[in-house]
Amino acid sequence: MSSPLFPALENPSERVALTFGDRRLTYARLGSAADALAARITDTARITDTARIADAGRVTDATRVAVWATPALETAVAVVAALRAGVAAVPLNPKSGAKELEHILADSAPTLVLAAPGDELPSPVAELTRVDVDVDADVDMDADADADASGAAPGRFPEAGPEEPALVVYTSGTTGPPKGAVLPRRAVAATLDALADAWAWTGDDVLVHGLPLFHVHGLVLGVLGPLRRGGEVRHLGRFSTEGVTRELDTGATMLFGVPTMYHRIAQAVQREPELAKALGRARLLVSGSAALPVHDHERITAATGRRVIERYGMTETLMNTSVRADGEPRAGTVGVPLPGVALRLVEEDGSPIERWDGESVGEIQVRGANLFTGYLNRPDATRAAFTADGWFRTGDMAVRDPDGWVRIVGRKATDLIKSGGYKIGAGEIENALLDHPGVREVAVTGEPDADLGERIVAWVVPADPQSPPSERELADHVAGRLAPHKRPRVVRHLDALPRNDMGKVMKRSLSDPNKGTDAPQNR
Ligand code: ATP
Ligand code: MG
Repeated sequence: MSSPLFPALENPSERVALTFGDRRLTYARLGSAADALAARITDTARITDTARIADAGRVTDATRVAVWATPALETAVAVVAALRAGVAAVPLNPKSGAKELEHILADSAPTLVLAAPGDELPSPVAELTRVDVDVDADVDMDADADADASGAAPGRFPEAGPEEPALVVYTSGTTGPPKGAVLPRRAVAATLDALADAWAWTGDDVLVHGLPLFHVHGLVLGVLGPLRRGGEVRHLGRFSTEGVTRELDTGATMLFGVPTMYHRIAQAVQREPELAKALGRARLLVSGSAALPVHDHERITAATGRRVIERYGMTETLMNTSVRADGEPRAGTVGVPLPGVALRLVEEDGSPIERWDGESVGEIQVRGANLFTGYLNRPDATRAAFTADGWFRTGDMAVRDPDGWVRIVGRKATDLIKSGGYKIGAGEIENALLDHPGVREVAVTGEPDADLGERIVAWVVPADPQSPPSERELADHVAGRLAPHKRPRVVRHLDALPRNDMGKVMKRSLSDPNKGTDAPQNR
């Protein structure tokens, strides 16, 4: 039998596993709620899953269940229950539009959907067979079942094998339509154990969590991570700096966030001394999902004396690199490959870059037990994502510092600008512009240019919309910070950057307003 994904559920205890607002489940209650729900998933799937019923009426490892992934206790219980039942969970973003949901449901063909009792499901999700995640009822039901000799005791479901899919997570759709990454149980375990090693993450840690639960960051790291360690998750429902302060003041030890959250923290920390103090007490502050702007990182460090640990990963590979808890994080780097992850940088012609000189830019390729098995229903995309010798092409470009630390330059598709014979990373220019007090947010892109190949365009959200910084001012500002070929040629002002649910800038929807296509709300 395979070893359990959640050892702490095998020995039911009164330790707290999940806290969502004023609702809380101990490991004992989570185990019984998840097992009761797993039994209902299995029973319902047997009846509903006509396509696979031919297989001796057994629920197979190809059975997938959708999870209506609101930031609520039910979502965490639903995913644990699906894993207990040995079926793959497909988390759905409740904020997705009908078209995206249609795409995901058609692609993943879930047998049923798990949702909290009060949740209203929109079409086309409402058309699926629904199983309510009634946490309290499931706990009570289990108490009855326990009295029964055949009761739903923890461990009644045989653990699924390591290569069986645990989750199908859709990528964020930053560069194109979301693709369903099939994540085997082995990858989930490997990534969480590698992070535990790097971060000295134990069952004593209490995580403050304010992220959505339908991506790898919020779900795999933020919920399954603490549960695998036997620790506690405290979800804020909605992220707020007050919530962060409150939880860190009452025993939480770590915070996971995306850069937009750290941006809010960097602003708030100036005027909320309690927040600065609370952050100073945290054992670990971790950022990921996108690059943490150096400016925000430095402001947080100045106010709290603390460094933020960056980690780099993606849906397809789970986590690739991070800074170790006993390392010395520096702004602008994502640390070193995690234990068990092989990482290399590769030139355009496919040859590996051997020099760690902080300058030679190459595509990051990775190998390891943390990798997905492929994109659902996309054999061609899956094949194209791997090299002949089995390395996954991340599409992210980076350099390595002389000590091996990885610095991400940006995505090959949208952040690497080829201008005047140079390859220029957008991130360095963005960091330089963010240092200007008149710049609240910025995204740098490349646009076709007859002379240069591509010219550098800065999309600037001014700190004060009444007096946006002039092109001249910004040119003077970057003159001392960037080599001439890295300076923006065009500055365009925006009210806000187009971002997805994870706060990632959707650069593909930033395009020249004069061309009249796809232009965002430009002014
Ligand atoms: P899609 O693949 O659908 O276009 P996506 O790549 O944004 O969307 P995810 O898998 O959620 O979907 O995001 C992974 C990507 O996020 C990485 O490939 C990388 O570009 C970026 N990323 C993650 N962590 C970091 C980090 N610490 N620094 C810089 N970039 C990061
Ligand atoms: Mg991607």
